[in-house]
Parts: sequence; C-alpha cells; structure tokens
Amino acid sequence: MVEKLVIIGSGPAGLTAAIYAARAELAPSLYEGFLSGPGGQLMTTTEVENYPGFPEGVQGPDLMQKMRDQALRFGTKMFTEDVDRVDLEKSPFTIFGAQTTLQATSIIIATGARARRLDIPGTREGEFWQRGVSACAICDGAIPIFRQKDLFVVGGGDTAMEEALFLTRYGSRIYIVHRRDQLRASKILAERATGHPKIEVLWDSVVDRVEGDTVVRSVTIRNVKTSKLETRPAGGLFFATGHEPNTGFLGGQVELLENGYIKVAPSSTKTSVPGVFAAGDVQDFQYRQAVTAAGSGCMAALEAERYIQVLELSK
Ligand code: NAP
Repeated sequence: MVEKLVIIGSGPAGLTAAIYAARAELAPSLYEGFLSGPGGQLMTTTEVENYPGFPEGVQGPDLMQKMRDQALRFGTKMFTEDVDRVDLEKSPFTIFGAQTTLQATSIIIATGARARRLDIPGTREGEFWQRGVSACAICDGAIPIFRQKDLFVVGGGDTAMEEALFLTRYGSRIYIVHRRDQLRASKILAERATGHPKIEVLWDSVVDRVEGDTVVRSVTIRNVKTSKLETRPAGGLFFATGHEPNTGFLGGQVELLENGYIKVAPSSTKTSVPGVFAAGDVQDFQYRQAVTAAGSGCMAALEAERYIQVLELSK
C-alpha cells in the first residue's frame, strides 16, 4: 500500500501539518520519533508565553500534548519510532523507520533542530558530558549535582537567558558566558536575566576548558579581548549556543543550504525533490518560533495536498 502523505517529525510543524492533512482526508502517517522523544523542542521548555491563544501562558509539553491530541482526533496514524533513512530517488518514496517501512506519494520533513555543543576540552563524551556539562538546562538543571553551585551558561541568545533564569532556582550564582559585548537575546528576556540578582554576564568571554573529578569542579574562562585566563569553581556548564538542523537521515538526497538547513523555494515549503516538503526549524534558521513552525507546517500540508491532487488528476 502506498500512503498519500508521510510526515516526519512531531514538533509544532509536523503536528500542524498532520492536523491539516488529516482534515483534508489524506490519512497522514506521522513518525513522531523515539530516542529524542515525541513533541520536539517544546518538550524541554517550561512556560511558553508567546503562543497565541494562551493569555496566561502554557507549559511546552501541555501545548504539544494538545497538538498531538488534535492530530489524532482527525485520524493521523502515529508511529513512535525514528526514521533511519529515506529513499527519494524514485516515486513512491520509501521511508525506513526503526521498525516500519512505508511508501508514500509525498513527504513532509519536519524534523527540527537540536542544540549545538561546542568542542571544548573537558566537555566531550567520556569527559564531563552529562556529568555536569549539558545542552539543556531545563531538562537537566534540577539534578542534585547543580544545587547550590556556581553554574555557567554559554551563549547570548534567548535560550541562554531562559536557561540562566531557570537555573537560578538551583544554583548559587549563574554566569552567562558570552563571546561579545552585546546580547543577541530579545530585550524582554535580556532585561529579565541581566536584572536578576543571581545572574552575572561575563562579557567578551569564552570557555577555555572544563575540569573536575567525577563531576565538573571548575571552568576556565578566557577573555577574548585581553586573552586573560581565569579558573572559577563550577558545578555545571550549559550550552545555549544555537541549533543544528536534523537532516542526517536524508543522506544528501534533498538540497541543503550552506548552513545545513533544507533549501525551500521562496514563500513555499517545496524542496529540491518534487513531492517532498520541509516545514519548521529544519528549514528555518531565521524565525525558529513555535508559531512560525506551525504556520509552515500548515503551508506544507496545503502544498502536499495540491501535489497529490494534481498527480491523481493526471492518472
Ligand atoms: P541563537 O539566537 O542563535 O543564539 C546562540 C548564541 O550562542 C548567540 O549569542 C551566539 O553568539 C552564541 N554562540 C554561537 N556559537 C558560538 C560559539 N562557537 N562560541 C560562543 N558562543 C557561540 O540561539 P537560541 O538562543 O537558541 O535561539 C534560537 C531561536 O529561538 C531565536 O530565534 C530565539 O528568539 C528563539 N527562542 C525564543 C524564546 C522565547 O521567546 N521564549 C526562547 C528560546 C529561544 P553571538 O550572539 O555572538 O552570535
């Protein structure tokens, strides 16, 4: 059997695409992932204050649960597994899940992006990665090793601000290590973080190395202007240095931009392969908001619907 539409990814883009496609009676199948868990990046967020329709704010996981329920309500078929690879060379396309293989007339890629880690001595696997070094304060911040310790957040964007604010619940002091003298974060979050009594920004600074015994005990900070090194006691280091799109499973079959994001036609979700559409953070390095991801998921579903219709009419 050939599916009309397979959606890969279960963040706001994938689930919105599923809601639209299911209501259009395309009976979409959706791979929601297993190892990184369904729901995408909002699953590791706490309060979402800027998603329209929730004047009091909404918890990220609650919002994703609601989207998933809505997609199921209209008949989306969920596969709780990862997609290992796809074959886009010939139509119908083939999607190789960890347990299931599906064939489909069209595909929406909505696999999002993951937190970027910097390659700093002491932070790698087998060193202090997951023993005090993390790329998600909101996922890991509550564990006991971080309590009443000085904690360091690397980055100057909204994520860094949000993570630093979150960590004030557990750490004694929170240092934001930023490589420039100006934050990239939005004004509102920057003001909240820099105005917090427990948070201090270390400007023009990068992390030179992380040291410890069984867990992190210190970080060495380098001032990029003076080259001065300073070792400070530390209980943890959190990367908040942006994201990388999840495109590895595509095996180079879809054209990517130089920065690794999927290339789509202007004002569209069409990729270089007819019948394959991309929505959400896997193709958006500019806005990266839940609401813009949801919007592009809607676009992808409408474009896929049109593609399938034209194909069926030409038979
Ligand atoms: P981001 O805006 O790309 O910020 C990444 C930060 O990491 C930047 O400050 C960057 O420094 C720094 N960085 C990158 N590579 C580095 C390196 N090699 N060494 C040192 N520092 C490095 O990423 P983000 O904060 O994850 O935000 C992503 C998007 O999500 C944004 O659009 C943001 O507005 C949105 N977001 C929104 C909310 C919210 O509204 N509640 C919360 C989180 C995220 P430079 O500034 O020098 O480039």
